[in-house]
Amino acid sequence: MERKIFVDISARHVHLTRENMDVLFGKGSELTVKKMLGGGFAAEERVTLVSQKDTLQNVTILGPFRYTQVEISMTDARKLGMQPPIRISGNTKGSAPIKLVGPAGELDIEEGVIVAKRHIHISQVVADEYGIVNGQEVKVRVETPDRTLVFEDVLCRIQAEAPFGPPATMHIDTDEANASGIVGSTYGYIVD
Ligand SMILES: [Zn+2]
Repeated sequence: MERKIFVDISARHVHLTRENMDVLFGKGSELTVKKMLGGGFAAEERVTLVSQKDTLQNVTILGPFRYTQVEISMTDARKLGMQPPIRISGNTKGSAPIKLVGPAGELDIEEGVIVAKRHIHISQVVADEYGIVNGQEVKVRVETPDRTLVFEDVLCRIQAEAPFGPPATMHIDTDEANASGIVGSTYGYIVD
């Protein structure tokens, strides 16, 4: 059976708590929706990331408010002179520190910077159909004209309903997308 999945590219972004937002943008400030994404939205507001070595400006904030987390690519990490761990979203314990700068203030976080581990959000219905269990790591083949690639170590996260658009969606970062020549959204196939 063909196990087709949607492939979506996540650019660098931050997640903030309500308290972080108050510090960076002023007390009671709110995020403005720029673009709806499955399960949340990209905000108009931006922050700057500052490390000992360099800065990254205009980094997107994803709403709604939840925990504090900064997801960057390996290329970004190199520019910033840091080596954040590869983690699944939400698992930031002991991850890398950074300074966040907004128009109203700045915030030094002791941990929260990760390079996102590639993963698939999959609904229970599709997981059953594809023979996938929660937490399983699979291989995904993405075919492009000149850079077809099989991604290994792709973690499957089963959710009652798929909150991220199509019922099976792989999230990869910009480095991974570039490595496989992906431009825009595409499809992949679970091959193992
Ligand atoms: Zn994801």
